[in-house]
Amino acid sequence: MNKPNLEYSPIQTSIINIYQRYQSVKEGKVATYIPELSKVDPNLFGICITTPDGQSYQAGESHHCFTIQSISKPFVYGLAIVDHGLEKIMTKVGVEPTGEAFNSIIFDEENNRPYNPMVNAGAIATTALIQGNGYEERFNRILRMFERFAGRSLEVDEAVFESERATGHRNRAIAYLELNAQMLEGNIDEHLDLYFRQCSILVNAKDLAVMAATLANNGINPITKQKAVNPEEVRAILSVMASCGMYDFSGEWLYRIGLPAKSGVGGGIVAVLPGQFGIGTFSPLLDPRGNSVRGIKVCEELSQRFKFHLFNSHPISQTCVSRIYTGAMVASKRQRRTFQRDFLDKEGEQILVYELKGDLYFATIEKLVRQLQNCQRQAKFIILDGNRVGNVNSSAITLLSDIRQWCISQKITLILTGFPQTTITRLKANNWTDEAFLGTIDNALEWCENYLLEQSNYGDKTFKDKLSLGDMDIFNTFTEEEKAAIAPLFTEVSYQPNDVIIQEGEKADRLFLLAKGMATVSLSLSDSNQRKRLTTYIPGIAFGELALFNVNVSQRTADIVADTEVTCYVLPFDKLKTLLVTNPEIYIKLLQTFGTTLVNTIKRATLEIRSLSAQ
Ligand code: GLN
Repeated sequence: MNKPNLEYSPIQTSIINIYQRYQSVKEGKVATYIPELSKVDPNLFGICITTPDGQSYQAGESHHCFTIQSISKPFVYGLAIVDHGLEKIMTKVGVEPTGEAFNSIIFDEENNRPYNPMVNAGAIATTALIQGNGYEERFNRILRMFERFAGRSLEVDEAVFESERATGHRNRAIAYLELNAQMLEGNIDEHLDLYFRQCSILVNAKDLAVMAATLANNGINPITKQKAVNPEEVRAILSVMASCGMYDFSGEWLYRIGLPAKSGVGGGIVAVLPGQFGIGTFSPLLDPRGNSVRGIKVCEELSQRFKFHLFNSHPISQTCVSRIYTGAMVASKRQRRTFQRDFLDKEGEQILVYELKGDLYFATIEKLVRQLQNCQRQAKFIILDGNRVGNVNSSAITLLSDIRQWCISQKITLILTGFPQTTITRLKANNWTDEAFLGTIDNALEWCENYLLEQSNYGDKTFKDKLSLGDMDIFNTFTEEEKAAIAPLFTEVSYQPNDVIIQEGEKADRLFLLAKGMATVSLSLSDSNQRKRLTTYIPGIAFGELALFNVNVSQRTADIVADTEVTCYVLPFDKLKTLLVTNPEIYIKLLQTFGTTLVNTIKRATLEIRSLSAQ
């Protein structure tokens, strides 16, 4: 994406407004229990919002660096899960909110573990679980993890680190109590140093927003596109942030703001709206619970203004079916002979097309499942088109696979068209095979039609050999004498595969009857190299005849290319016109035949338009 000019962005304007509104708030106090933290300028204030595609909106001192402090806790928790897995971590650190201050000395004695990883007791236990060979390696793993989240290299504020290391007696006490209770093992002083050091990593509000946006983006950093953690860790991180992230304010925070969040005594807050964005704020003036006063106000205002609360009223899911029609209403672009057309006009009922739209997840697919269950008994083919489908979540993948099983049990052939490769890959991991996927609805319709025709011996195989002139559909109503009278005007012409039979723009002065092989009419689409198939001709079909009726324009309007070896009977229009003198009845009959074909084509097109615009 290009860098937009944010000057005119209403979002940027809102962020600036909110920043200005709370700039004058001077409530709260900077943290002093870590002596070095008391030196911070209390007026500093920065806000940043970052989207999962990497757009940031910033106001104030969003680039001023401060120590991350407790905001490190959920991220290190994620790394501990990477190291040990979700189940093992649960035995070491719980997930229950304490309702107590961040540094309280209470433990879940029943389970012999700290209550949750967001309070110091839990965070020290979490850090103790980070693997690596010695202090350096373990800290480097922590720092690299933060760098993956922030998308840049980060540093430690050595002064803050030393300051907390020298004065963090309470944290030391907590760790030793945990050691005593066998909640911790290993080198306690090393664990504590790691914990103090992770708290002293320098970040700014923009970094916090990018880190939060990485969580919003299922663990993929929106700037570097690098994976920071797996989706299962993201879920665990966001869960503990939602229930315990704001210490003894967690319940009220969820009630008022409604986003998973984490604060730190350095003055930062991160908040996440999954799938949509991350927020980072910085203002070192803290309330008695250790949460940034202005940070809370900013988040509350943002949440109210933009309705961010996770439990705001949600739109009720609509069905994902945008259109339903049968193969009798809409045919493939392949030309058919009259007898085939008549057959498909009836039997096409067995082909059902469901065009899907929007996101596929449980609630939208459930409605499709209900519609499929009601589908006509005679359905033999179901085509699900995903061309206009948005996101497909994993429950949709499971449900689509269940639909496939149901189709197999009903002896229905299920074909998916237009789905992106990523979805196809996920379905294939669920035992779907290649045959289930075709590029377009047109391909799928053609495949089903061919199948029906072959089954009833109406298939194209029945005219594999070169057709004689008299076998052509346009002569269906001609007597043998009439055929004999017109036959000498035609010459037989052969083409190799990919030969251009008719070229767009060239003079339209002859009529073609296809005797053998197949040829396709296609248009080049503007602004792409792709071509759109208009129709494919098969033996027995006439083409190029429309120019006969078009007295003003005598140029071809599309290319017709041989798909296979092709034989045509070709009749130049000027030769045809000699019939006007020698055999006018035949000339009139021929025109009448073309007229009837045209009427039928228009009728079918009208039916198709009606079917496609019905819903
Ligand atoms: N390093 C700080 C401590 O353990 C982190 C506390 C916090 O940010 N709430 O005291």
